[in-house]
Amino acid sequence: MGIIKTKDLVFEYIRRDEEGNVEGITKAVDEVSLDIKQGDFVAILGHNGSGKSTLAKHINAILYPTEGTVWVDGMDTADDDKLWDIRQKAGMVFQNPDNQIIGQIVEEDVGFGPENLGVPTKEIWERVEESLRAVGMYEFRKHSPNKLSGGQKQRVSIAGVIAMHPKCIVLDEPTAMLDPNGRKEVIRAVRALNDVENITIVLITHYMEEIIYADKVFVMDEGKVAMEGTPRDIFSQVEKLKSLRLDVPQVTLLAHELRKSGLEIVDGILTKEELAQALGL
Ligand code: ADP
Ligand code: MG
Repeated sequence: MGIIKTKDLVFEYIRRDEEGNVEGITKAVDEVSLDIKQGDFVAILGHNGSGKSTLAKHINAILYPTEGTVWVDGMDTADDDKLWDIRQKAGMVFQNPDNQIIGQIVEEDVGFGPENLGVPTKEIWERVEESLRAVGMYEFRKHSPNKLSGGQKQRVSIAGVIAMHPKCIVLDEPTAMLDPNGRKEVIRAVRALNDVENITIVLITHYMEEIIYADKVFVMDEGKVAMEGTPRDIFSQVEKLKSLRLDVPQVTLLAHELRKSGLEIVDGILTKEELAQALGL
């Protein structure tokens, strides 16, 4: 079993009126079965409302399955006794960095997680240093988080999660509120955690270009897994991606059009460099 596994996961949001009668049911996750290996970099794509955040919240035991099962490092998330173990094993980073940073000083903020875990003081400081270095924010350790850019704040949030020594980090659209530079910084930091520390990454995004580095991609639609494969498998299916309302990168579209018009180019081109090479430039 991988570090994260879901079997036939179904989640329904139930809306009730004031008397408690059921007014409506939204099936946000519909029969999802995934198995993610330790050390994998997995991307989850999907348009708004496709069920990505609902799925993510199950990995951190914020939500529990309506049907089916979720395991994190072999622990069933429905097992209340394991709640804190699960939250320590699978850290979560959300879209808005301002809602995740609580400390007045960067290093203090990063120390909160391990402090809550009861880690001894000396080790907390070691973890703070190591985590801030891992995301390239060590030189800002004495700064006030309010003065940082969005990308820097998000990297501090990530450091706060790594300081808990998780095996896995789930990032729910961590770059959605950032400018292009901030987005690059965050993705670079996430890749380094995966490459260097072998932390399992689940990156939820609707930016297709952010999935290039993933080992495996799942595309969600209406609560179901509509596609799965390597980034190249996914990018090869341009028409399908469009039908799932995803924005296919310009370079992939261009390569796809050139191929349709008869040029011999491999399908699933991911970068400008690959296209140039494919065209013999
Ligand atoms: P995504 O993250 O892909 O945008 P979500 O998981 O947030 O998708 O939403 C999936 C579906 O569940 C949508 O139809 C959304 O409207 C619905 N939904 C999400 N959160 C709630 C909630 N708290 N109460 C009721 N319905 C919700
Ligand atoms: Mg979402």
